[in-house]
Amino acid sequence: MSAAFREAVVDLDAVTANVARLRELVGTEHVMAVVKANAYGHGAVECARAALAGGADWLGVADVAEGLQLRAAGIEAPVLAWLHDPDEDFAAAVAAGIDVGISSRAQLEAAAAAGAVDAPAFVQLKLETGLSRNGVPASEWEAVVARAHELEQSGTLVVRGLFSHVSNASPADDRAAIAAFSRGIEQAEAAGLRPELRHIAASAAALSLPESRFNLVRLGLAVYGLSPFGADSAAELGLRPAMTLRGRVAAVRRVAADTGVSYDYTYRTTAETTLALVPLGYAEGIPRHASSRGPVSIGGRRYRVSGRVAMDQFVVDVGDAEVAVGDEVVLFGDPATGVPGADDWAEAADTINYEIVTRLGGRLRRSYRGGPA
Ligand SMILES: *Cc1c(COP(=O)(O)O)cnc(C)c1O
Repeated sequence: MSAAFREAVVDLDAVTANVARLRELVGTEHVMAVVKANAYGHGAVECARAALAGGADWLGVADVAEGLQLRAAGIEAPVLAWLHDPDEDFAAAVAAGIDVGISSRAQLEAAAAAGAVDAPAFVQLKLETGLSRNGVPASEWEAVVARAHELEQSGTLVVRGLFSHVSNASPADDRAAIAAFSRGIEQAEAAGLRPELRHIAASAAALSLPESRFNLVRLGLAVYGLSPFGADSAAELGLRPAMTLRGRVAAVRRVAADTGVSYDYTYRTTAETTLALVPLGYAEGIPRHASSRGPVSIGGRRYRVSGRVAMDQFVVDVGDAEVAVGDEVVLFGDPATGVPGADDWAEAADTINYEIVTRLGGRLRRSYRGGPA
């Protein structure tokens, strides 16, 4: 691989292999690959195809617009979208065959209005079970499932699934949410609904709490080879990080001891040394919070960012190593290959691996390796 100036290289074969491995681990009838937010920064269309090749049979997105982007690329697999504009017109979703996640009575009516007897709206009803985000509150659930059944009888709407989402606060909290969800399923069935899908688990619960799996799990982070439980856990689960973030050294200078580096001179050299300039900055989503902390690999050796991460660039003190303009700099990739991982950057920036990969953008080029034929 010859390095590009600023580049995120996504290994689509890793995505495919991760999904296959996850299917094996969870053993559920259905697996939904969550490709919202441009597949956590990895490229939605490319990763959706790679995940389907690995055995995912559903795709999950937050916004309907993200689902429409998949359809525009020719992806025909089932898609669920669950977070909507208050004035969302679900006609486009229904026309594109995208399932609409329903979190309120108003959304249920809007979805039914977008459906017709010869082209019903497919919906999945979301019950709020403790996270305090969206979802129908337990107090309104019986009325909503009764109305959904009525609409189903009228033919404009089909309830394909029931779902919820857990907090990961603790196994006990997640078990309480699962119990509340199970009661919600019983109430829906008592109201006459016969939904084909029931799901509550994302990566963390799916991997750690078997009773959360029902007949579908919604997997995001793990699909990209990262674990909600940290770097060692991803490797132990047999998952491979799909993304390598890299660039090329744009300048090198030899400087004396006590030379200030980058804005505010928060870093000063302690001896004569070589400084390498790396052309990625917070415009690309490199966290400024990782100033003087974020790890990089150059020529197979580990260094840290020296001083402030700026908008377009940061500097690395490489000592007396022979680093030249054009050399490859890896910010993170698969730790099994000796480079830092997204988890190392998460630690350096006091955040989570999810945010490190998802926030990448700016002038970064994405390129792909492998992938389904
Ligand atoms: C983002 C999201 C997921 C995927 O979560 P991961 O922890 O990345 O697996 C699943 N379900 C919902 C509702 C989500 O918003």
